[in-house]
Amino acid sequence: MLLDYQSILDTIHREVQPLLREGKVADYIPELSKVSPGRFGMAVYCLDGRTFSAGDADVKFSLQSITKLFALALAFSREGDVIWTRVGREPSGNPFNSLVQLEYERGIPRNPFINAGALVITDILATRFVQAEIAVLQFVRMLADEPAIDFDRIVAQSEQDTAHRNSAIAYFMKDFGNLHNPVASVIGSYCRQCSITMTCAELAKAGSFLAQHGTIPWSGMEILDASSAKRLNALMLTCGTYDAAGDFAYRVGLPAKSGVGGGILALMPGDASIAVWSPGLDATGNSLAGTYALERFTTLTARSIF
Ligand code: GLN
Repeated sequence: MLLDYQSILDTIHREVQPLLREGKVADYIPELSKVSPGRFGMAVYCLDGRTFSAGDADVKFSLQSITKLFALALAFSREGDVIWTRVGREPSGNPFNSLVQLEYERGIPRNPFINAGALVITDILATRFVQAEIAVLQFVRMLADEPAIDFDRIVAQSEQDTAHRNSAIAYFMKDFGNLHNPVASVIGSYCRQCSITMTCAELAKAGSFLAQHGTIPWSGMEILDASSAKRLNALMLTCGTYDAAGDFAYRVGLPAKSGVGGGILALMPGDASIAVWSPGLDATGNSLAGTYALERFTTLTARSIF
């Protein structure tokens, strides 16, 4: 059944207004703190080609951890199951930048969506490609059919200048033998990858292959086989929103990946992909208004994976 997503998006856009000042914009990456917390955008990309949007859906924002999904999809498509010898598939139950589990789990990160796991994925890409972050950038340009997508070099530099915790994580993993390239180059690639900017409309389109069982809906190109796409969707559901993944699944009921730039990409397998952006974050680092918007979306449409 075709739903009129436009009136639902307009309703949500109205409903989120009081929430837009409640979240806290990330400031541990100084450059990110300059974004106005009042922004809100949402876009839906239907697998039949229809698109819907509301608010700031055409404003670019910093993807941050959402790039971990694209980096993982690229690494998984090229390397296959061997990546799971270096990174796990369990929720961490800890903040995304935590160090604590790494020591007693001997340098093997819990999953590819916490910073430690994403650094291992960057390392895997750095071994395979001349420059890991360029490979990820070209991958998302192709997925969104948008060659102008780029890094934000000021955000990348800002993160790199303050990347003390991520560097500690990387050195720790290197000590356990789980980082093969030099720490400085992995951190540099990771910070540039995280700085990629996109609009909600571009992001929803770029993620649509994961809603279409691994195949780009508008070109028919297979990125992952259906079984691998199922596995990435499962990881998004269990680990994609950090230590809030359980509560996010309870409230929204969709696989999703969030970033501290305030974006969230959520998937309705077989139906559509949805991108939402609002930079004010809740205590776990997920967009406060964005999570609410997705909760309202699955409630108003009565569609989720459950
Ligand atoms: N670049 C950010 C970091 O490493 C990404 C974190 C996030 O979006 N949760 O801290």
